[in-house]
Amino acid sequence: MATTSPLTKLIEQFRSLPGIGAKTAARLAYHVLSLNKEQVAALAQAIINAKEKITYCSICYSLTDKDPCAVCSAAARDHTKICVIEQPQDVAAMERTHKYQGVYHVLHGVLSPLDGVGPEDLRIKELLLRVPNIEEVIIATNSTVEGEATAMYLARLLKPLGVKVTRIAHGLPVGGDIEYADEVTLSKALENRREM
Ligand SMILES: [Zn+2]
Repeated sequence: MATTSPLTKLIEQFRSLPGIGAKTAARLAYHVLSLNKEQVAALAQAIINAKEKITYCSICYSLTDKDPCAVCSAAARDHTKICVIEQPQDVAAMERTHKYQGVYHVLHGVLSPLDGVGPEDLRIKELLLRVPNIEEVIIATNSTVEGEATAMYLARLLKPLGVKVTRIAHGLPVGGDIEYADEVTLSKALENRREM
C-alpha cells in the first residue's frame, strides 16, 4: 500500500490555506524544500509561536499577545465609542486610517443563515455586555448582503439600550471588504457614518 509522500503532505497542508490553489501550494512546498534546515525551523517556529502566544482579547476579541489588548488598555483611546467589525484583521485596516480613536469589538463573522451562522455563533452577547458604558456603537461590517443584515440586526438590539448606533458610509464598494479598503476610502466611510 502506497503511503503519502512527505512532499505530497506538505503540498496538501499549503493547499488547505485560504486563497492557495494547487499550483501555489506546490510552488510553496518546493520553495520550503529549497531552504536550509535553519530557515525551515525558523518558519515552523514562527507558526508555532504565533499560535501559542496570540490569543483573543477578553474585552474586544481581537488578536493580541497580552490581554487586554493594546487598544483596550490604552488610556488615551475613547472608551465610549465601539467600532464593530467582522474579523480581527479589520482592526489593522481601521488603525491604518489614523482617524479612529475609539475601541473595537470583533464579531468573528457575520450572520449567514445559509451557512448556519446565527447570532449565538458571533460575539454579540459580549458586545451587549459592554454597552452600558458606551455612547456610540459604529457598525463597520462589510457592505455585503450578510454585512448589511448583521448591521440591521445589531441596530435593532442596541437602540433600545439607549446607545447611539451608526453605520459607516457606503464609500466602500458594494461587496467590499474593510480589510482591503484603502485608508482614504475607509477614513471617509468612517467620517460620513450615519445614524441607524
Ligand atoms: Zn481588546
